[in-house]
Amino acid sequence: MSLFRSTVIACPSCGADIPFEECDSVNADRRPDLREAILEGSFQSLPCPGCGETVRMEPQFNYLEVGAGLWIAVFPGRMMPDYIAVEDAITEVFETSYGARALPSAREIGAGLDVRLVFGWPALTEKLVLRAAGLDDVTVELLKLDLMRRLPEADMGPGRELRVTSVEQDALNFVWILTEREVPMDGFAAHRALYDAIEEAPGAWAPIRAQLTDGPFADMQKLFIGEGRAAAE
Ligand SMILES: [Zn+2]
Repeated sequence: MSLFRSTVIACPSCGADIPFEECDSVNADRRPDLREAILEGSFQSLPCPGCGETVRMEPQFNYLEVGAGLWIAVFPGRMMPDYIAVEDAITEVFETSYGARALPSAREIGAGLDVRLVFGWPALTEKLVLRAAGLDDVTVELLKLDLMRRLPEADMGPGRELRVTSVEQDALNFVWILTEREVPMDGFAAHRALYDAIEEAPGAWAPIRAQLTDGPFADMQKLFIGEGRAAAE
């Protein structure tokens, strides 16, 4: 089921009260229109009745698309520094809903789902775009690390992230984004051959892949935040 809750938020531009239907959960199999709205950037977004400025809610909901094999917990970008605690919390939620502590019928569905945690709208859109293109999202995170080595001027780190916005036959289109404000900066295209080269050398990439998949936040950003899960435990 897709769940919404009525709430009121203050317009960040003029302060006017804006009535909002806040989303708690998206079932994209039943509501493909919500998936489309996420992809085009109109989901949880509306014009302020006071000043006309477009206002978008911070994302905080669960996204389920059984047809694509995806269960994604979506959180605001500003919460990324706390990713280990959020990973633990959402792992609990998944275990209860579709994992070890769920009903057998739900467990059966859960077996076909990849569990992911993302922070911010661009990160969610990226996961949906990659899955639709038949690309492995973890390989794309490895590709980003590879690109960092090839782009000496790249200024990677907390607060600034690289997201795929679309996939063509021979290329992946990337854009730089400021995480908290979700402001898109400049972009570039990377050859699909770079992605294929990583898939063809699994051994060389295995240690970093293991680090990226030690929890549901399968994102290279985690390498720039703290010492990681191994150190935290
Ligand atoms: Zn306003």
